[in-house]
Amino acid sequence: MTTTTVTVTERRRLTAIRAAWLFDGTHPNLLPDPTLVLDGRTIVSVGSAVAVPDGATVVDLAGATLLPGLVDGHVHLIFDASDDPVSALAGRDDAAAFATMTSFARAAARGGVTTVRDLGDRGYLALGVRQAATADPTLPEILAAGPPITTPGGHCHFLGEDAAGVDGVRAAVRTRAERGVDIIKIMASGGNLTPGSRPELPQYGLAELRAAVDEAHRYNLPITAHAHATQAIVDGLAAGMDSFEHLTFMTTDGVDPVPDEVLAALVRQAVTVGMTVGIAPVPGAARPPGMEARMPAMIANARRMLAAGVNMIAGTDAGIAPIKPPDVIRWAIPQFQQLGMTAAEALHACTARAATALVLGNRKGHLRPGYDADILAVDGNPLSDPSALHAIRAVYVRGTALTR
Ligand SMILES: [Zn+2]
Repeated sequence: MTTTTVTVTERRRLTAIRAAWLFDGTHPNLLPDPTLVLDGRTIVSVGSAVAVPDGATVVDLAGATLLPGLVDGHVHLIFDASDDPVSALAGRDDAAAFATMTSFARAAARGGVTTVRDLGDRGYLALGVRQAATADPTLPEILAAGPPITTPGGHCHFLGEDAAGVDGVRAAVRTRAERGVDIIKIMASGGNLTPGSRPELPQYGLAELRAAVDEAHRYNLPITAHAHATQAIVDGLAAGMDSFEHLTFMTTDGVDPVPDEVLAALVRQAVTVGMTVGIAPVPGAARPPGMEARMPAMIANARRMLAAGVNMIAGTDAGIAPIKPPDVIRWAIPQFQQLGMTAAEALHACTARAATALVLGNRKGHLRPGYDADILAVDGNPLSDPSALHAIRAVYVRGTALTR
């Protein structure tokens, strides 16, 4: 007998996906007859005239459009999109909550959402899901804020510890930075989800918001403010927030028109606004009546902000209600169109622009060589028919095809 030493050179398997159309994340026109080649977790070539490399596995998605996986800038993995997610969460210990969060994240990925930013958990559990995702290709890429910073008894106080005063806020930012969060989230005003909370009133003053921004930036962390009340928005801008969530300009019984100086500051300071778009059609479920009545004025404000050039992304608040399932961002497109975006601009706001806002623009949000192979394939043409986005043919998360 002879012994033979075999040297195995590991070759990653190439996959070539063919489809009818491709939206690259930015370009307003679809690329016809694309071939996209991926190697492991990375896209290596994309084009109409790309040859299929020798030995590549060919996946033929005839009639489909390839898009970058969707990027949601504001989700809550901790909430389960039930009728009363706050009570449901109160009944779960951390292990049970973690399990719910993981399946919520997995459902997002199955629905084509390959990157999510969690803007409020309990006990830093989203950081654990973020870690799990690095070894589990059925989970989307996750960024996480940890528990939101809020006042004693304030909006979402049940998610964590309170922070009062300038020193308290600074300490809260420091704690989060040391835990390894990706972003700081502060509740600058009250919110709708918390009984007794008043969205139309600020929770923090300018001094506390300034301290929060200063401390976050000392740690090189971005900071975003949940802000409904006009005063909270004004103070947040003066404090130098990097981004805002909601930005509804809610008053006790209505909505303030966006003040001209606020509009100018939003553009001048190049802040990103996470628009709370996306409403899934769920029988019997709707927005709270108070919000429904305010919608026309909120839409008018949002149209003005968009026309002025405010940088908008989708921050759906997935998880907080039945109309906000894990993959609700697919229903954001018609709402963005209602504000004046084209379908391509709306898809851009849910892919490349969102990835840039999340500081992931060098590897997420585009179908380009060198980018992560996060791909949503749908039947039909989502530029001429946004409902095509729901006819999912395939989802690839960092190069792995999810089973459907
Ligand atoms: Zn939220």
